[in-house]
Amino acid sequence: METAPLLFELGRARPTTRQIADLVKAGGADALTEAVHRADAARYQEVRCRSALNAVKGMPFDWTLNPYRGCTHACHYCYARRYHTQFELGADDEFASMIFVKTNLVDVLRRELAKPSWENAYVAVGTATDCYQPIEGHYRLTRGALEALAEFRNPAGIITKGPMIVRDRDVLADLSERAGCTVYISVPCVDEDVWRALEPGTAPPLQRLRAVRQLVDAGIRTGVLMNPIVPGISSKPSRLERTIKAIADHGAAFAGCNVMFLEGGTRDHFLRWLSDAFPHLSDGYRELYARKYAPASYRKEVLTMVEALRAKYGIGARERTNEHARVREAPRVHEQAMLAWRD
Ligand code: SF4
Repeated sequence: METAPLLFELGRARPTTRQIADLVKAGGADALTEAVHRADAARYQEVRCRSALNAVKGMPFDWTLNPYRGCTHACHYCYARRYHTQFELGADDEFASMIFVKTNLVDVLRRELAKPSWENAYVAVGTATDCYQPIEGHYRLTRGALEALAEFRNPAGIITKGPMIVRDRDVLADLSERAGCTVYISVPCVDEDVWRALEPGTAPPLQRLRAVRQLVDAGIRTGVLMNPIVPGISSKPSRLERTIKAIADHGAAFAGCNVMFLEGGTRDHFLRWLSDAFPHLSDGYRELYARKYAPASYRKEVLTMVEALRAKYGIGARERTNEHARVREAPRVHEQAMLAWRD
């Protein structure tokens, strides 16, 4: 069996994600002795990806692209936590502190987009990580991927909680014009206590909404996803109303939302966290989340309330198109599907 140092010597090929997973399986995260520690206390392990575009099933889109694995934003409800467990890494702290960086992603993507067999299918960017988490400021992989998508006139949608996205509004405008692009900024709740509790590593909600305004002003179709609504925490009517009003005030083209679901490593992590942070909610959650989804009647109640608030503040029901008429939009069928899907 290869020894660990062989994988990480400077100047040699970077390991694949699979090699890293095998290493972690054998020796835990501490076996990654060459992963770089940065000021945020996370460890960043550079890896080599074999493909940039991932074919997915059971999603409302067929292709995804994720420059990183893991996310320092550390949202407790994050459904991507369970993906870390597929690599023998923990869905708790390791999800937020051991980040894999696909350093060759842009080169690989360009090769894939250039293949004659590729038919410029819609690509969903940032479905299993946040592609504008702080390390993007260093690697700029998301920017490179968007540049490649624009160059190849390939439609895309991108989801993030990172206000850093405004750095790339020139590329997003270019992609919008050439092929169609929709940006989904995730802002589940504007209440600061809820934000601090649920999304400890993210930028404040109002900062994210200011990013919405800047993108809209740059002519990029941009909406907000309030996903997920977390029962008993962000589901209170007054909080829903403040959030929807703020979204409308910042010019978002739409506001989508879904009630949280829980499964796998995400479920384990969330319920453990809840019993520490909100112990009085634990019993109710055991009942509400006996299965992956909260009961349909509960979800309907929340979504009906949201619908009424959307109507009150004129968002969702009204089509707010870009003021820049030249800008094309990503195919609507994908947009509707993304709204229904994303947590
Ligand atoms: S920002 Fe997105 S990917 Fe990152 S932890 Fe939060 S929900 Fe997960």
